[in-house]
Formats: sequence, structure tokens, C-alpha cells
Amino acid sequence: MRALYWFQSDLRLADNPGLLAAARHAKALLLVHCIVPQPGWCNTRGSGVQRQRFLHESLKALRDELAPMGQKLLVVEGHPETLIPQLVNQHAIDEIHTSEAPGFYESATLTRLSELVGDTLTEHGGNTLFSVQQLPFDLDNVPLQFTPFRRAVEKLPIDRPALAPAALPPAPAGLVVEPLPTNNVRPHIALPVQGGEHAGSRRLQQWIFEQRGIAQYKATRNCLDGLDGSSTLSPWLANGSLSARTVAHAITHYESMHGANDSSRHLTMELLWREFFQWRAHADGIKLFLAGGLRKRLRRCTFEPRNYARWCQGDTDYPLVNALMRQLVATGWMSNRGRQIAASCLINELGIDWRYGAAFFEKHLIDYHVGSNYGNWQYIAGVGTDPRGGRHFNLNKQTAEHDPDGEFTTKWGGYRPPQPEFVTDAADWPLTQDEDA
Ligand code: FAD
Repeated sequence: MRALYWFQSDLRLADNPGLLAAARHAKALLLVHCIVPQPGWCNTRGSGVQRQRFLHESLKALRDELAPMGQKLLVVEGHPETLIPQLVNQHAIDEIHTSEAPGFYESATLTRLSELVGDTLTEHGGNTLFSVQQLPFDLDNVPLQFTPFRRAVEKLPIDRPALAPAALPPAPAGLVVEPLPTNNVRPHIALPVQGGEHAGSRRLQQWIFEQRGIAQYKATRNCLDGLDGSSTLSPWLANGSLSARTVAHAITHYESMHGANDSSRHLTMELLWREFFQWRAHADGIKLFLAGGLRKRLRRCTFEPRNYARWCQGDTDYPLVNALMRQLVATGWMSNRGRQIAASCLINELGIDWRYGAAFFEKHLIDYHVGSNYGNWQYIAGVGTDPRGGRHFNLNKQTAEHDPDGEFTTKWGGYRPPQPEFVTDAADWPLTQDEDA
């Protein structure tokens, strides 16, 4: 029997049930990852350099882990529903395995692929804390809000993460794997994190057990810089180099050694937020991308191109927001507090359609995840799962609380000289005040 395993957002060998299932009875195993071209939307196109860099490192690390087992990872660029059937024919594949992926477009791809390859395709769980069978509700009835969701799932057992396989069946004979395209981008000095399972496990080990960052997490989690306050595990969790169950079991292990406290419990709760947005993304389908969101509630908003461009470039009238946006583009990451502030600014101060902000985050975040990104944006815009109907952050108050001395804002060049006010003519061309006079 010849099997194909299609890696999606599960770029790991440990705790990967789909990979184990594919390997179980196979005489030959073809391992594939598809880099899907990013269609542009909301004035945004492609992936930012740090996001590409992190993916490149993650794929390279996976290849390096497979090499001692005599295995190879084929990385192909294009649409899986076109490429995978071709590979199935070419290598006489009998079974295809992959992991479940939330998100409307990801599900549509799986549906199209299964129409083409029939019942040879099996999807496996493993990217969430709980399996779909464990959930005490079906996917049409995932609670609309976090608190009832948390109450329903928080006592469920979390399966112990499986070890990485010691060996894998060989790749099909004659498989040619091209080197990955060169990527010379380096991590930004302010966030020196590298992609791959080993780097993710190292960060987990260091932050929880060596630095014991978890012990003060509740007090430090709003820190605006990465690595200092919160776990900064999101990049590896998002592309699946680390499984959520691995992180959850590390927290439990820490608690068994040092005792649980508010901070360790809070970190577990954040993993439940991730879980919530993953299952909501399964349930919400296309509604995750609609302006009116889950609530079908249209807000008054506009698309003012100059304001949007200024927000993206970190050139608004709000120094802290400027600093955050520059941090995002330079490093591919922003703290949770930073994301809330920047999102609230786009939605409430600039009055722009929230989806333009979500698309810009999608382009740049190295931890981009469809459910968490679009779910959180909807939450702040008041068209999603927030019981209070949206959040409007007072930017002066946020600055006073989170960057009182302006250290972060200065570090990221957030203060900008006052700009001349533009007014526009009838055709919307900007005029300076002199021209206007
Ligand atoms: P920690 O505070 O250490 O939390 C541990 C883990 O819990 C995180 O790694 C993450 O997996 C999960 N988590 C924490 N907070 C949230 C949350 N609010 N929602 C969902 N999961 C959470 N997170 C992403 O992983 N990908 C995204 O694309 C994304 N986009 C966001 C967009 C906006 C507008 C906002 C407000 C939040 C977004 N988040 C996203 C959630 C959150 O900001 C990040 O998960 C978090 O900042 C990552 O840093 P950390 O790993 O240090 O988190």
C-alpha cells in the first residue's frame, strides 16, 4: 500500500496522528506540503517577508528532521486540489491523509479534493486540544461566546501528545525533491525566533521550565515586546510545529512540579481561546469574512485609502499605534494587547472596514491563523463573539498604562513630525493648504 501525507498547518513529527495513520501500513510514503498562492483581498497581496521567512525555516527544519529517517518532504507551489491528484497518479497512491483545517477556503479545498480522489482521503484531528468527538456539542452548535464554550470543555481530558515516529516508510522510488527556494531574510533582532519543531520545543522548555516565565504570566502578558511577557509560542502553534496538546501538557507538568497559580491557569485559558476560535471557524465558514460577521451587523465604516495606507505604514496621528504597526512589519509579530490597540484604532478612530485590518495582519503575522485572526478582529469590531458588542480602546489611556515612558514607541519610531493637513479637490486629489488658498 502506498500512502501520501499532506502536511498543512501541522509541520511536525511529534503528536501528529494523521502522519502516524499514513505511515501505519504503508510500504511507501509520499510527504507533501503545498504552498498555496495567496489571492489578494482588501488591498493586500502576498505574504510579508517575515511570514515567508518563518514558513521557509519551518519547512527546512521538517526536511532536516526527516532526512535521518531516509525520508524527504516534497514542497510544491500551487493549489492542492490540482497538485495532489497529479501526485496520486504519478506515484500510484492508494491512500491520502491530512489534518483537519478550520476556515472556509481550507474546507472548500478539502471538499474539492475529496470529490476528485474519492474515499481515499482521510482527515485527522490533532491541531486542537480536543477532538471533534470529545466536544459536548456538534459543530453547528458551538457556543457563540467564549464563557459557555469554556465551561463546556474545560473539564474534558486532553490526550497525551504522541511521540514522533522512530522510523517512517521510505519515499516512493525515484522521487525528486528540489531544494527550497533561497530565502535570505533573517529574524528581526527584536524577535529572534526561528521556525521548526526543535526551535518551538526549545522555546516551550525555556519559557516554562527554565525561565519560569509562566509563574508571572498574568502580570507580564500585556508587555508589548515579544519574548519578555507572554509565551510567544503562537508562531509555532499556528503552523503546527508545536501541538496545542504539547503546550497544555507542559503546563500541567509545570503545575505538578511547582503548583498551579493564577498565571498558569490563565495560560491554559488562553489555549482555550485558541480552541474556541478554531471551532468557531469550523462552524462559521464564510461568515468569518463578511463585513457584518456572525451577527450580520453592518457597522458604519468607510474605505479611505490614505488613512488605511497610513495605518499600515505606522504613520497615523497615534504614536503607539505607529510603533505597533512598525513592530508588526519588521518582526511579523505583535503582542495581544498591541493587536487590540491597533485594531481598535483602525475600526474606531479611522472608521475603516475591519476586514482591511485583518487582511494586513494576515499578510504579516508569522503566527497568522485564520480562526484566531478573523475571530479576534470580529470580536473587536462588534460583529463576532463579543457579548459586549465590540471594544473601543481609549488610546491615551492604553498609552499611559502600557507605554508610560514612551520607551516602546521611541524604539519603533512611532513619533512622527506633524504632517501638513491635506484637503482634496473634487476629484479627491490631495491639495496642500497653500495650493488650496
Ligand atoms: P500567550 O499570551 O502566551 O498565549 C498562549 C497561546 O494562547 C498563544 O500562543 C495563542 O495560541 C493562544 N492565544 C492567546 N490569546 C489568544 C486569543 N486572544 N485568541 C486566540 N488564541 C489566543 N493569534 C494567533 O495565533 N494568530 C492570529 O492570527 C491572531 N490574530 C489576532 C488578531 C487580533 C486583532 C487580536 C486582538 C488577537 C489575535 N491573536 C492571534 C490572538 C493573540 O493576540 C495571539 O495569539 C498572542 O498575542 C500570541 O502571543 P503569545 O504566544 O505570547 O500568547
